[in-house]
Amino acid sequence: MSGQTETFGFQAEISQLLDLIINTFYSNKEIFLREIISNSSDALDKIRYAALTDPSQLESEKDLYIRIIPNKEEGTLTIRDTGIGMTKADLVNNLGTIAKSGTKAFMEALSSGADISMIGQFGVGFYSSYLVAEKVQVTTKHNDDEQYIWESAAGGTFTITEDVDGPRLGRGTSMKLFIKDDLKEYLEEKRIRDIVKKHSEFISYPIQLVVTKETEKEVEEEEEVKEGDSKIEEVEDEDSSKKTKKTKKVKETTTENEELNKQKPIWTRNPADVNQEEYASFYKSISNDWEEHLAVKHFSVEGQLEFKAMLFIPKRAPFDLFETKKKRHNIKLYVRRVFISEDNEELMPEYLNFVVGVVDSEDLPLNISRETLQQNKILKVIRKNLVKKTLELISEIAEDKENFDKFYSAFAKNLKLGIHEDSTNRSKLAEFLRFHSTKSVDEMTSFKDYITRMPEVQKSIYYLTGESLEAVKDSPFLEALKKKNFEVLLLVDPIDEYAVTQLREFDGKKLVCVSKEGLELEETPEEKEEREKDEKEFAELCTAVKENLGDKVEKVVVSNRITESPCVLVTGQFGWSSNMERIMKAQALRDSSMSSYMASKKTMELNPHHPIIKVLKTRIAEDKTDKTVKDLTFLLYETALLTSGFTLAQPQDFANRINRMIALGLSIDQDEIAAPAASSSKDEDMPALEEAGGSMEEVD
Ligand code: ADP
Ligand code: MG
Repeated sequence: MSGQTETFGFQAEISQLLDLIINTFYSNKEIFLREIISNSSDALDKIRYAALTDPSQLESEKDLYIRIIPNKEEGTLTIRDTGIGMTKADLVNNLGTIAKSGTKAFMEALSSGADISMIGQFGVGFYSSYLVAEKVQVTTKHNDDEQYIWESAAGGTFTITEDVDGPRLGRGTSMKLFIKDDLKEYLEEKRIRDIVKKHSEFISYPIQLVVTKETEKEVEEEEEVKEGDSKIEEVEDEDSSKKTKKTKKVKETTTENEELNKQKPIWTRNPADVNQEEYASFYKSISNDWEEHLAVKHFSVEGQLEFKAMLFIPKRAPFDLFETKKKRHNIKLYVRRVFISEDNEELMPEYLNFVVGVVDSEDLPLNISRETLQQNKILKVIRKNLVKKTLELISEIAEDKENFDKFYSAFAKNLKLGIHEDSTNRSKLAEFLRFHSTKSVDEMTSFKDYITRMPEVQKSIYYLTGESLEAVKDSPFLEALKKKNFEVLLLVDPIDEYAVTQLREFDGKKLVCVSKEGLELEETPEEKEEREKDEKEFAELCTAVKENLGDKVEKVVVSNRITESPCVLVTGQFGWSSNMERIMKAQALRDSSMSSYMASKKTMELNPHHPIIKVLKTRIAEDKTDKTVKDLTFLLYETALLTSGFTLAQPQDFANRINRMIALGLSIDQDEIAAPAASSSKDEDMPALEEAGGSMEEVD
């Protein structure tokens, strides 16, 4: 290696990560080998894929394999692959200078108790080689560049040198780990065999271990240098009883490539012959997950179309599941056992991006390219099948409550996205949704269970959306429904409202938001008669309140949904609910023109049975211009904003009004209250409640 050596500094977070890896006490170091083998396997996948469209890419090295070479004299362990290799730029970028989101995420995970063996999921597995090595030397050759050597003993820097006179690689990468003195066990053949068996059994390229064999041989003294044909003569010697020539024992070392993963691809086996450990081990090898899968479906499809597949659902969501820029490579596509690609967009819809697995098609052409993949009809049929099987798999998980809870807490968002994305399977997906409800606050309930609890008169499924269970569980919107024994689903995940709006109905029953106008609660003839009577009686008050509030509300009507609160604010059926308004306000980059259009047009609903409302009605009947009614209207409006899930535009006005009420309650002279702030001109605009009159309106 006599080229120019360039030195580079590790990106700061990577440097930190290396320190952590080197200095953390951690005994399960063997996982380094899994990570390196997994990188080799990825590199082999890449060259095989490139060769599909350009077979000449393979000419630099036709055999595809991973080879492990322990060298006890040197104290090194080398892992060689004939994958795609790295250009100089790849070395600089991929091994040290470009930060990945996983670097930081992994360190955070570690400090909150994660295990180092989880490293692969965070996309920084390469650095695990420093668990066992004091120095790492990566020699690599990419078809588009010269052969280079990357080298680092950590400590903040690495070097890159063009490899001018070292042994030629043809193509691929050779990772030489200078094993720490106290960890020489990793050079033992048996140890390596065990680790590969445990972590990398299902890698789909041959993994060879270079084993050395020492054999003792008896050779004739004069012929000791001669090899090969000596055996035959020895045999003859033994046969003949009279030995004439002297023999001597000689030690001979030979090396052999022993293949460690001779299994045929696991998905081609009969499901009845594959056990749970084998599934788990295969799952781990294709997913980088450190934990077993939650559920698996192994199946084959025959007929017009033939393929075998294995789909896994993980126990947890990966840390970057919703990182939109990141492409997921979860479904590996094979054609007649040959790896094709792992860009799974064509194989799984986005909302199922957490499903991990393999598909092996008998029908696709081997030389299929990325472009043709996109329009391929066979692939579309495969995809449809995969989705169907995944939903079946989820149904199976749902049979066991504990497992389903695990699944749901990890992937509820995906299901809800699916409702949005996948109209074909919308109603199937809806079966998996779970919500809290007024009758099931601790446990979540399904639509199906909800329906079983519906009283006979109830026709629709009712729901209320909001920020948290706490915020909605005693909402005034629930009053009448509770009284009627109608259960209300409490939707407190921001995405819920998108999902149910999209869903519209379940099992023929309309989904009705209880905080929107036009709530037609199923009512008895008596209830109907009473409501109509109330509407007539309170018409005058409604008109007066609307006049007072001006354009703060669209209209004021008598409510059928509240029984305890004096009033609530409901929103238009097709506009945003208060919850949606809150969510949209929180989205910093939203288009504000949209919000004026969609923002909730509020209707104020009055409770005709509430004493406050009753008194107001009498006051208005006596005097249409009653000032107290006017003032109290504002207070009622602002309170209703809060209990209905909106925010106050001017909280200070509200506070002033409340403080005056408190003063009134304590019989404090209004002048005393006004006194301390009398100097402020603003406060002079704010007359005491008793004498407020029209000036209250000016405040707004
Ligand atoms: P990940 O494998 O998740 O991308 P790693 O830290 O394991 O993260 O590897 C970092 C990158 O280094 C890989 O994405 C790849 O580009 C490159 N790399 C590592 N090992 C090899 C290899 N044997 N052949 C080619 N490229 C490799
Ligand atoms: Mg890796």
